Amino acid sequence: MIKYIFITGGVASSLGKGLTGAALGRLLKSRGHKITMQKLDPYINVDPGTMNPFEHGEVFVTEDGGETDLDLGHYERFIDENLTKRSNATTGSIYSNVIEAERQGTFLGKTVQVIPHITDEIKRHIFALGQAPETSDSKKFTPPDVVITEIGGTVGDIEILPFLEAIRQFRLEVGRENVCYVHLTLVPYIAPSGEQKTKPTQHSVTELRSRGIQPDVIVCRSTEPVSDGIREKISRQCDVPTENVINMADAKNIYEIPLLLHKDGFDSVVCKILGLSGTASLEEWYELCQTTEELTEKVKIGVIGKYIDLVDAYLSVVESLRHGGFHNRCAVEIEWISSDDPKDFDINRLSQLDGMVIPGGFGERGIEGKVLAAKFARENNLPCLGLCLGMQAMTIEYARNVLGLSGANSTEFDSKTEHPVIDLMETQKDVTQKGGTMRLGAYEAKLDRKSQVREIYRSDIVEERHRHRYEFNPKYSKKFDDGNFVCSGKSPDGKLVEFIELASHPYWIGTQAHPEFTSRPNRPAPLFLAFIEATISQKSLFQKSVA
Ligand code: GLN
Repeated sequence: MIKYIFITGGVASSLGKGLTGAALGRLLKSRGHKITMQKLDPYINVDPGTMNPFEHGEVFVTEDGGETDLDLGHYERFIDENLTKRSNATTGSIYSNVIEAERQGTFLGKTVQVIPHITDEIKRHIFALGQAPETSDSKKFTPPDVVITEIGGTVGDIEILPFLEAIRQFRLEVGRENVCYVHLTLVPYIAPSGEQKTKPTQHSVTELRSRGIQPDVIVCRSTEPVSDGIREKISRQCDVPTENVINMADAKNIYEIPLLLHKDGFDSVVCKILGLSGTASLEEWYELCQTTEELTEKVKIGVIGKYIDLVDAYLSVVESLRHGGFHNRCAVEIEWISSDDPKDFDINRLSQLDGMVIPGGFGERGIEGKVLAAKFARENNLPCLGLCLGMQAMTIEYARNVLGLSGANSTEFDSKTEHPVIDLMETQKDVTQKGGTMRLGAYEAKLDRKSQVREIYRSDIVEERHRHRYEFNPKYSKKFDDGNFVCSGKSPDGKLVEFIELASHPYWIGTQAHPEFTSRPNRPAPLFLAFIEATISQKSLFQKSVA
């Protein structure tokens, strides 16, 4: 029997439900259970693919091409499993399915309502994660032992109600012993009175109960751990045993969270509720956290982006850089450099860097700043990693400044450019609909035998996730073939350029893919690992030359 854990949040948003779920997933996996996770988001967008990163943070792309919530990135990094698009649903996608079924006559003339039709669809979505996907060979599918479902938003929101109703009903359907409700709440510290306060938790639990859900475990988010007295108070007021009130004080580093929660008995309590056995073997995770404490090197990496006011827009990029850092015992300091206004673009700041990443993005704004940054990196032997739009900016830069193709651009930014070195992919030319229509998900690339990327990946064929509509224009391949610029990885049919590099540069590598989506703390993405290594050696070379 599959066990189901539901994570809800109260009092305020952004408390870290995603990380709590991801950490719990890690702990249960370390006890030998097979885990899968999902996020149900109450907003109306069908998926986050069309949402502005300024507002919603990064769009995380799954292997099968789902454009999903960034929490799925946390899940994958913590439980070290590839999830699929089935792991994210929204009010929008749930309603779309129900409305489509209604149009097909599935409900046989019945009035279609939130209860039972929407709630049934939500439950179907939760059940589906425990079942073989319709598309794949069902023999290959092994069902999970535990499905962890995070409900986005906050208890008390209007749009969360159908989700709470669905998870309430769910317990009756699968049996009490198979469901555990975890509620994450804020315990604020009020400085003038010098006290931590439980009232917001009480209110939030009252709200949850008014929807028929009594939490089994309460996780307290606070700046400092809550005292035993507070724990007892919450236990009494909210009707949960004291040991089920778990501390989750601010952590120095997100990868510590599983260990902190484990120390407070979170996984033991959840396992007791669900009748799950096993002891946590967390040696690898302890080692990882130990490493994060013993970083002897330090590098300063510039991220040249336009969404820098909300750093969550580059969440996976930052995590991948940190992963590369951990494995080199190197702390990565991020310098956020806005690519917005080319006139104000501060070249001086670039000379303070040990390396730069030019991340992905959409739309014209910021592109000229990215091109300038790419030029600086190329001319100064500064390690530079271009991701998707970053690679496109590097291509434009090289075309303009080395190949003399003045005005070279991407047709995304200048449809009339004389030199469209980046152009809309053939397969995208008839696409008019937004949302789920880009080239999405994992695709293979074949690497050039003598290239830097081949050396980095140590494999002829690699697979990375994608999310783009434009590509290196193959009509310009010959022009770029100058003995230095190398199209070092291509799609297996040889048509699409997936990697570029410069033979003369220690690390000036661009990829049409997003390797940041597959990096894990214990297994950094090869391009990021090699990038950090390159920044460390460039830094020491520079120091030697100054000395
Ligand atoms: N806007 C570019 C494209 O669609 C790059 C996309 C990205 O960086 N993810 O090809």
